Amino acid sequence: MRQLTIFTILGLTLLLNACYKGKSVDLVVHNARIHSMADNAKVQEAMAIKDGKVVEVGPERQILNKYSAEEEIDAGGKDIYPGLTDAHGHLLSYAKQKLSVDLVGCKSFDELLVRTEKYQDRYKRKFIVGRGWDQSLWGTTELPSNEQLNRLYPTTPVCLYRIDGHALLANDAALKKAGIGPETSISGGIIHVKDGKCTGLLVDNAMEPLNHLVPPFPRKEIQAAIIDIQQELFQYGIVGVHEAGIDFNDIFLFKELIDSKKLQLEVYAMLMPSKANMDFARKHGKYRHKNLIIQSFKVFGDGALGSRGAFLKQPYSDQHNHFGVLTTPVDEMKRIANFCEANDYQMNTHAIGDSTNKILLDIYKSIFDVKPDHRWRIEHAQVVDPVDFVLFSNYGVFPSVQPTHAVSDQRWAEQRLGKKRMAGAYAYNTLLQKYGMLAIGTDFPVELTDPFLTIQAAVKRKNGDNFPAGGFYANEAITLEECMKGMTIWAAFASFQENRTGSLEKGKDATFVIFERIVKAGDTYEPNFANHVFIRGKKVYSTDY
Ligand SMILES: [Zn+2]
Repeated sequence: MRQLTIFTILGLTLLLNACYKGKSVDLVVHNARIHSMADNAKVQEAMAIKDGKVVEVGPERQILNKYSAEEEIDAGGKDIYPGLTDAHGHLLSYAKQKLSVDLVGCKSFDELLVRTEKYQDRYKRKFIVGRGWDQSLWGTTELPSNEQLNRLYPTTPVCLYRIDGHALLANDAALKKAGIGPETSISGGIIHVKDGKCTGLLVDNAMEPLNHLVPPFPRKEIQAAIIDIQQELFQYGIVGVHEAGIDFNDIFLFKELIDSKKLQLEVYAMLMPSKANMDFARKHGKYRHKNLIIQSFKVFGDGALGSRGAFLKQPYSDQHNHFGVLTTPVDEMKRIANFCEANDYQMNTHAIGDSTNKILLDIYKSIFDVKPDHRWRIEHAQVVDPVDFVLFSNYGVFPSVQPTHAVSDQRWAEQRLGKKRMAGAYAYNTLLQKYGMLAIGTDFPVELTDPFLTIQAAVKRKNGDNFPAGGFYANEAITLEECMKGMTIWAAFASFQENRTGSLEKGKDATFVIFERIVKAGDTYEPNFANHVFIRGKKVYSTDY
């Protein structure tokens, strides 16, 4: 009798528990501040997850009462967001940068030389490649020349890329190997010549002959560097990258990494418009292989403002009669547009100068006429003639911007453009008002990967050193909420993935990040990091072990 009672009570308890607890799920996260990024959603406290998908997001008691989970995480009141996406970055360039002479942050040309010598002492390369110098950090606007490199390396070719990737400094040995002399002319490029001699500085298309000569790094070294970068991105809660321009062979490099389960990042890779890539698009159409998505082309409309390669309607304010260059002829851009339209691919074009932006907006009109929701993008949209802003809404063109560029370029942007043109430069709020969304990224390795620097730049218009005090053209600031959308749900829209990811809602991927500290934009930059990162319900990163 006694035994029976115990069993009855035990049975009843189990039964009650089962009824009380209701549905079983894989994971419940609670005691959190969940910013789901869903439309009009308020901050919620708990979330239930099963089979890698969000089952429900809601108040603490509701979720805890309704679900029983194999694993529960008490988030300790911390902020949770959908995993962040960097909507414009370069994993491959960053990997190559890590394997080259690191020139990022060099404070003088002498420091550039010292770092190059140290690197070469260690690696003894037959061809020295460096990346990341920026002459504006040396207290000069003048671009460097190669005399000292020639003295140090009379026979070993040296090729040092500027931080924006739109200019390089080569020694004479490298120029000779590439067949470039003072008389050489390359359309869409500039070869700097002084006193009848090449200075070694090559801009935009003029870099091409050397780009082809630079020996590739071993594939395994590049793949290992990408995995290092993935770890760096996870520590910031970044789970996805819109990789802005890859070659044909890179498709397989990424596939290999994904198939070996090493690369868990979501990669939306834009193809460079080569013949092999166009054949790939024609054959496969919109392509998805696990976490690799290919459905867009990356086109270079012009160069960068720092190296005066951006194509402007009026001459540069700090270089007489110089307009910059269009790096792809208009007819070629139209041909690529037609191809993208026929194959249902997006066209994502790099456009920095106001002239390039106008040309592209006009080209994009044709896709808008047949497919209003095309989501073709302008990457950077950095300098726009104020009369042209309306075309972003008229033709439904998606602006893809990098707020840290604004605060990095503040040192010289006004010199290049003059005060008047600044009205349409780095105008993220205006662009947001026109299109209704922004895709937000960093353009790493041009800028650092840290999304909290992006927040500071977008919301406060300040750099990591809290400069300038009042914000750089602060009238173009956007809100924290808008900035976070730009790195989550709007980035998902910019890649046609909004039904699957970008917000934490029923049925969507349980891809999210729990941050160490409150996500905010204060008057001063404060670093923040991910505590845990989940991709489709699986923990991929944690600071707890
Ligand atoms: Zn880029």
